[in-house]
Amino acid sequence: MGSPRDVRLRIDTVGVCGSDLHYYTRGGIGPQVVSYPWIVGHECAGVIVEIGPEVRNLKAGQRVAVDPLVACGKCDQCRAGRVNTCRHQRFLACPGQLPGALVEYLVLPEECCFPIPDSMTMPQAVATEPLAIGVHAHRLAHPEPGAKIGIFGSGPIGLCVLLACRAAGKFSFCATDLLEERLAIARQCGADWTGNPRREDVVASISRQEPLGLDFAFECAGQQETLDQAVELLKPGGTLLMIGIPEVDRVSFKPDAMRRKELRLQNVRRQNGCVPTTIELVASGKINLDPLLTHAFPFVETKGAFDLVAAYGDGVVKATIHIPDLP
Ligand SMILES: [Zn+2]
Ligand SMILES: [Zn+2]
Repeated sequence: MGSPRDVRLRIDTVGVCGSDLHYYTRGGIGPQVVSYPWIVGHECAGVIVEIGPEVRNLKAGQRVAVDPLVACGKCDQCRAGRVNTCRHQRFLACPGQLPGALVEYLVLPEECCFPIPDSMTMPQAVATEPLAIGVHAHRLAHPEPGAKIGIFGSGPIGLCVLLACRAAGKFSFCATDLLEERLAIARQCGADWTGNPRREDVVASISRQEPLGLDFAFECAGQQETLDQAVELLKPGGTLLMIGIPEVDRVSFKPDAMRRKELRLQNVRRQNGCVPTTIELVASGKINLDPLLTHAFPFVETKGAFDLVAAYGDGVVKATIHIPDLP
């Protein structure tokens, strides 16, 4: 182990995330290019098997969820409580930063490991990683009770935003996606209205639902089309939260529409200190992650898991991979 405050984890389960898929299908995300051999995976959970001499809050045998970001703890951002924008951050399975979690053993600083209750399954613990991003996005939006919320893109992150907001108060939700299976899960997770832009004009439909417009639009697809829909549907003074990661270098906005309605634009970068709250929300039953955990694979079928997620096959939302004990 590198530092006296590190712990060694026996990884039990790893989730397949969109970013892993970019590495798998395209060999990188924008300027972050993979050099092989390369280990994917940043959503993981496991059991502590060894602790360094200066570890204070953890012990061997504990089951933990993992925050995949290792912050430097020293820069201006860390000192200002913004570890998610740490200037020297290292993230699991980010080229040039840290190797990935699809391994049997992983060494991490103790700050990255969060004990989970016995009642929580390992796949649920894995899914607390994207859910923490939803909790963080909700905190940034800070909607007033009764707010009208739109979620554009109901993949894992969009659904996590929906679950996190719904657990926090009484709001009304419109959710969109191109896949009917995901819209069905969005309704199961509490969306009041769902629509598929392949089948209907979602801007016209949501305008009929909410004639005054939306208070908050969470853009979770990373597409120009969904950004345009969000800008069009927001009410004056509304807030656009950008969570989806576009594949292109640039997106555009109509400055006139943004200005006339005095829209706010809030970017969302990973999460910041939301993991304990997230674990509590799941452990207490306030949030049920199971509708998102659609597929579980054994380690030997890892390629099948990636191919399924890449193809959006079989209604997949979150696929997890279980790493078995050594024979
Ligand atoms: Zn992820
Ligand atoms: Zn830092």
